[in-house]
Amino acid sequence: MSFEDIPVPIGPVYEGERIRAKQMYVELGGPKIDKKFELCRVVPAKEIKDGSVKILGLDLKDMEEGSRHPIGILIEVAGEQLEEDLEAVFERRIHEFCNFVNGCMHLNQRYTNWLRISKTAVEKGFNSFNLLGTVLIRLFKAELPIVEQAQVTFYTEAKEIVKPHAIAMEIYNKRDERARTIHDSDVDMFYGCVLCQSFAPTHCCCITPDRTSLCGAINWFDARAAAKVDPKGPIFEIPPGDCLDEIAGEYSGVNDVLKKRTLGEIDRIFLYSGMEFPHTSCGCFEAIDFYIPEVNGHGIVDRSYGDVAINGLPFSAMANQTGGGKQMPGFNGISIQYIASPKYQQYDGQQSNLKNGTETIVWMSSTVKERVAEFLPSDLIDKIATEADVPDINTLKDWVEKVEHPIIESEAYKAAISGEEEEEDWEEEGAMIPVGTQSFMVPGAGGMGGFKIILKNCKIHAESIIIKKIESKRKKK
Ligand code: SF4
Ligand code: ZN
Repeated sequence: MSFEDIPVPIGPVYEGERIRAKQMYVELGGPKIDKKFELCRVVPAKEIKDGSVKILGLDLKDMEEGSRHPIGILIEVAGEQLEEDLEAVFERRIHEFCNFVNGCMHLNQRYTNWLRISKTAVEKGFNSFNLLGTVLIRLFKAELPIVEQAQVTFYTEAKEIVKPHAIAMEIYNKRDERARTIHDSDVDMFYGCVLCQSFAPTHCCCITPDRTSLCGAINWFDARAAAKVDPKGPIFEIPPGDCLDEIAGEYSGVNDVLKKRTLGEIDRIFLYSGMEFPHTSCGCFEAIDFYIPEVNGHGIVDRSYGDVAINGLPFSAMANQTGGGKQMPGFNGISIQYIASPKYQQYDGQQSNLKNGTETIVWMSSTVKERVAEFLPSDLIDKIATEADVPDINTLKDWVEKVEHPIIESEAYKAAISGEEEEEDWEEEGAMIPVGTQSFMVPGAGGMGGFKIILKNCKIHAESIIIKKIESKRKKK
């Protein structure tokens, strides 16, 4: 495969390249753009004009420097051995292959995709989606030999993207719906994925029916199909082995495989806990599940939420804390689907003597709540606060009491409320207190726009500390 006709170098060495706002020629999709998507479809060969690239909307060279645009990427593929189950897995490779291009940065997936093209790349002549499409088609065919033919369509204008975006959302929903039909106890094989190791070298996803990958893009069915056609590829089987703890979701086989695939860094995972031996997070999680020690509950915020969460931190700040392939108790990158699973953080629920993990959820951004409300118990959903109900931790405390949220019956909640924290235990064990605990808060939503930091009986070692004032967008309106 040759890329001699492409004006910028192409290869895995460019994965991980960051393009800052000042370096970018244009931004496509991302948090400031309403509609964006990327989708792969398996279609009959007769519907494909192999190698063709279509652009519906402005081409790169017609875009103004520094501007932002919608982006839809539709890749249609054909091949005798292809099946629909492979679509999601192929789609996930768009991220990797775009990042092979020197001067192209791709983040996230599905309906949160975000690209930047650098000024340097455009100066060198990488000024058309025809070039990006050609690179994608060549890489798809070279890296996934069962793809025999491929064509790409880019949508870059608001009016052009509406229809294909709606179709894409419907397809994502159908995939998610199917994923909800089975559970971990129904299968005897789990799957692993290391596609994100170029960004987070110690991260390996364990994909089970109840735990759709944290990027939300690969469910158990998708992973099964991928491992079948390419067992030595980045998605592979994980025989669960012995179940060591059913509530925590700890399996001997999962621990063994993860140890091998993370170069020995991670050797123990509780699939159903955000607090003890949690699953690692790379960076492309759909949502962050975070612990709120003041009420012993969990909060969940997703990528599309533009304001600060109940703990005073925006998604981006928490994402830095959560990602990178570390096990970070109290900060867990998750898929939206996992919230709907009966296994959601069930270990944490049990530790608080609750019926299940779902009962630990005390706060969600409204963007998350809208998406999962229909899957959560009807007697709980109204007790979960959003930003519309409570602006800060103090009002959240009042809220859980007022609505009689199940969390208020947990011993840890009672201890937190009465100020009897387990500080001594923490100190004895030398455990790390996750940033964002009650000993270090930057509310930002505390009433007058100021901020308050309370450090009580606290030992902190940090190489540097940066405190930035974060204005709530809600208040500015
Ligand atoms: Fe694979 Fe996990 Fe990355 Fe998704 S988040 S691409 S499943 S490693
Ligand atoms: Zn990732």
